[in-house]
Amino acid sequence: MSEGKKTQFVTAGRNKKWTQGVVNPPVQRASTVVFDSVAQKHQATVNRANKTLFYGRRGTTTHFALQEAMVELEGGAGCALFPCGAAAITNSILSFVSTGDHVLMVDTCYEPTRDFCNIMLKKLGVETTYYDPMIGEGIRDLIQPNTKVLFTESPGSITMEVQDIPTLSRIAHEHDIVVMLDNTWAAGVNFDPFKHGVDISIQAATKYIVGHSDVMLGTAVASAPYWDQLREQSYLMGQCVSPDDAYLAMRGIRTLGVRLQQHQASSLKVAKWLEQHPQVAEVRHPALETNPGHEFFKRDFTGGNGLFSFVLKQSCPKATTAFLDNLTHFSMGYSWGGFESLALANEPKSFDVLRTVANPHFAGTLIRLHIGLEETDDLIADLDSALKIYQEVLAQEA
Ligand SMILES: *Cc1c(COP(=O)(O)O)cnc(C)c1O
Repeated sequence: MSEGKKTQFVTAGRNKKWTQGVVNPPVQRASTVVFDSVAQKHQATVNRANKTLFYGRRGTTTHFALQEAMVELEGGAGCALFPCGAAAITNSILSFVSTGDHVLMVDTCYEPTRDFCNIMLKKLGVETTYYDPMIGEGIRDLIQPNTKVLFTESPGSITMEVQDIPTLSRIAHEHDIVVMLDNTWAAGVNFDPFKHGVDISIQAATKYIVGHSDVMLGTAVASAPYWDQLREQSYLMGQCVSPDDAYLAMRGIRTLGVRLQQHQASSLKVAKWLEQHPQVAEVRHPALETNPGHEFFKRDFTGGNGLFSFVLKQSCPKATTAFLDNLTHFSMGYSWGGFESLALANEPKSFDVLRTVANPHFAGTLIRLHIGLEETDDLIADLDSALKIYQEVLAQEA
């Protein structure tokens, strides 16, 4: 993590206008904002897009503080808030496409993003082409006259391919295509989106920003040319969040730096241990040299986190079940980014559905881990004993 960020985690969004004399911006709950004069109401209407109390759906001071904090952390001109990460993704795309348009979507996108393209965009007459996360300059050949959005996610969901975002952005911009990034893995702070050519940086703030597995929240930070359109069109689609959730997200930001540093150190230790385990074929961790796109991780990222995957040598669902059921510190659960460790399994055939052009064709089961804030040695001991049971079941099945 770049050193300057540490101070920002403490100061971001703590404008006196929002904090009103205390450390944290108070939770301001409101639907109706009341005006005492026609002139005051007029003033609020004119400034409604500009952090001025107008109506609850436009946000209150708690939301304004979080929006300001996100812009301080990620850059850009403004931040739109959404009730979850999926809403941030879909509303960002919908704000920039019309019937007849074309979207370039990375093949390693978050699964619901793919489903949204295949079901909702299709219904609206917007065509999607999936591209290989490692395509680089080759993206040029997939651009059509009607391409409006280049959507990226780096590293890729589950398989962790790191994309060459500057190259993709440069080519997209030659064709006036808006570049969107699902920046959840970097928590918006270990990958500087705007420095690398991204126009809209999206996060499931549900993950590391909130950091405690207790709030659903999405953010989309846009650069100046795209901010007005993103803000107004998302507003038309009724996107707003509770001030309590905005408050908790801001509280999460205060410890984001120390949490990420610990997640990163612990996950690297576990990844290196797994790398030399006899049952493990491959470890997909962006900080390891063997990870696809590691060179872009080294060049463009300032740190990692707790989320990575490893691939077993074989696929044996019964043994995988025994492994998962015998983990003590890892629960199974969708999502990640909280303080707790999690594990999920993908058998090789699942990628026949999850991938169109970049199926990794693993021979064995992929296990995605989120390394939480527990003692790393406890986690390694847990994995070690569950892998022993895995091996026993594997031997029985052979
Ligand atoms: C979880 C996640 C999302 C969706 O966020 P929700 O808040 O669960 O809707 C989007 N992208 C990535 C990479 C995620 O991990």
